[in-house]
Amino acid sequence: MGLLWGNGRSEVPPTPAERIVLKKFHSARYLHALKTAAAGRWTAEALDMGIGTGDCPVFAGMYDYSVLACGATLTGANLILSGAADVAFNPSGGFHHAGPERASGFCYINDVALACIILAEQGKRVLYLDVDVHFGDGVAYAFYDRPDVMTISFHENPRVLFPGTGFEDEIGTGRGKGYCVNVPLPVGTYDQAYMKAFKAIALPLIGAYNPDLFIFELGADALAGDPLAHLYLTNNVYVEIIDHLLSFNKPILATGGGGYNIDNTVRAWVLAWSIFAGADIDRDINPTFGGTMFESTDWQGGLRDRALVVSEPQRETVMPAVEAVIETIKANIFCLHGL
Ligand SMILES: [Zn+2]
Repeated sequence: MGLLWGNGRSEVPPTPAERIVLKKFHSARYLHALKTAAAGRWTAEALDMGIGTGDCPVFAGMYDYSVLACGATLTGANLILSGAADVAFNPSGGFHHAGPERASGFCYINDVALACIILAEQGKRVLYLDVDVHFGDGVAYAFYDRPDVMTISFHENPRVLFPGTGFEDEIGTGRGKGYCVNVPLPVGTYDQAYMKAFKAIALPLIGAYNPDLFIFELGADALAGDPLAHLYLTNNVYVEIIDHLLSFNKPILATGGGGYNIDNTVRAWVLAWSIFAGADIDRDINPTFGGTMFESTDWQGGLRDRALVVSEPQRETVMPAVEAVIETIKANIFCLHGL
């Protein structure tokens, strides 16, 4: 689509993350187990750390792939740190479930936690925003007691979805209290309900926190039709969120994440990149053609989803639940930020 070059855009080859960098988050024992399992020596100790489970199978090239995917995110972080880029996007990143000594939820190396660490080390106030349908537990818990990285995760109610944590009362501890923000959303959450929560929670907190930059985990598994989850969003939500982020005029390091309806995921990420890159084809064309001609969930062309029909019962169950979550978060966290 010609979106990777021209107008200040470029495709930058990633360098694999160095072991010394990986050790800023992962233990040496875990990295060793991951590497040796990838080389065919899989131990009970590795299994104990989640390596070789159903979600995190051992496969050929596993270690090199994970390290290169992580390296791509860190390449983006370095482009932003050096001032060479305002926005960097690694669709092969966003492995937010990996723990210091744990492979989890299809994630082996936590590139986004590492990017937060590296940018915070350089004195940056980091705002980590996670819109993957699953709670970004590996990142949230990595900074649970730290105020220099604020994590905000919008996800489906963990009572019904992996990883089973990420409730609104998990708000951080010690100096980090109030810097971990979880927005669990009910099954069937649709665009307007989602954006109501985003505007009521994320926008005021971002304003109060005043970050130097954003790390944005853009999992596409919150879209309607994802086979692993139960939210009901269209990709127009991502456009709206990106527009809000861009309006803060801060650098953005974006990554992919989950997304198991492949067509919808690809389209959402291309759309996201087109907005970041200032090459929003649909937006340019739409006024001429009067609106929705190029918008279709069934993909008749264009990148945007068509608006989905929301039933009355769905509205009546989802909106009050979302409003209750908003009120709880306001009560628990806003006062800690003078809001
Ligand atoms: Zn996910």
